Amino acid sequence: MSEMIRIAIQKSGRLSEDSLNLIRECGIQFNNGTGKLKSEAANFPAEFLSLRDDDIPGYVADGVADIGIVGENVLIETHQKVDLVHRLGFSKCRLSLAVPRGDDYRQLTDLHQKRIATSYPRILSNFLQEHKIEADIHEISGSVEIAPSIGLTDAICDIVSSGSTLMSNGLKEVEVIFRSEAVLIAHPNLSPARQQILDKLIFRIKSVQAAKNNKYILLNAPKDAVAQITSILPGMKSPTIVPLAEEGWVSIHSVINENAFWDIIDNLRAAGAQGILVVPIEKMIM
Ligand code: ATP
Ligand code: MG
Repeated sequence: MSEMIRIAIQKSGRLSEDSLNLIRECGIQFNNGTGKLKSEAANFPAEFLSLRDDDIPGYVADGVADIGIVGENVLIETHQKVDLVHRLGFSKCRLSLAVPRGDDYRQLTDLHQKRIATSYPRILSNFLQEHKIEADIHEISGSVEIAPSIGLTDAICDIVSSGSTLMSNGLKEVEVIFRSEAVLIAHPNLSPARQQILDKLIFRIKSVQAAKNNKYILLNAPKDAVAQITSILPGMKSPTIVPLAEEGWVSIHSVINENAFWDIIDNLRAAGAQGILVVPIEKMIM
């Protein structure tokens, strides 16, 4: 049998959908039948294992899976021997300290000698140590946000995205202690054959990410505006310039970054660009 890589992904939760989308965007087809623990890709040497996210770093460290997708928070908290090989940019969230809304919290030292409930004792204790705060960490596995209202602790440390859970439990966010996103992790000693498959996968992921961050832009401009317009366009290399049937006009094509987008569009219009088209890029091979 030829070499295959085993990829651990979250079975169902906040990482699952984006993980599956990324894999699909990498052109990998597989049949993700519901409730199936294992499935094989049809057109890539990979097999997928659907697991609870907390178990993924351990399975990758043990070599049961070769690589996996997890939140960086879980990666740090589980403290398994795996390599972080690529940042994936989705499932972004923060781990924050929160206290009852009525507290007049001013600074971190206010938490000295206080009790803090969390599912992330390692990340929290590292943070507290770094800031020389001595507090009593209560590890609980779920519903951390109710701990203060039932009198278990004075504060909590939990994942926040919008803050509405904190709000509805009478809490306010006071410090961000860690920012997380989904990451690709790998077993530290992959066989050369599997490493090669991983490299191929990372190459595809980078192409997908680059494409998402960029747009293809086409516009028409009078010839005498070309110099100014090309100076506004920070393309991959130099822009493509094609003459139009109409005398004195050209079509200019380039690639622009998603973030610079609106500023660039305004500047282009001011420089005389017309008929501007901005289209998504499916893959961008660097
Ligand atoms: P499992 O059943 O697999 O153990 P879980 O309930 O522990 O799942 P999820 O809530 O699905 O975990 O979250 C998975 C990961 O997604 C978290 O570890 C974190 O990295 C990220 N995450 C958590 N909450 C959010 C959020 N509100 N927005 C974005 N990402 C989040
Ligand atoms: Mg979990």
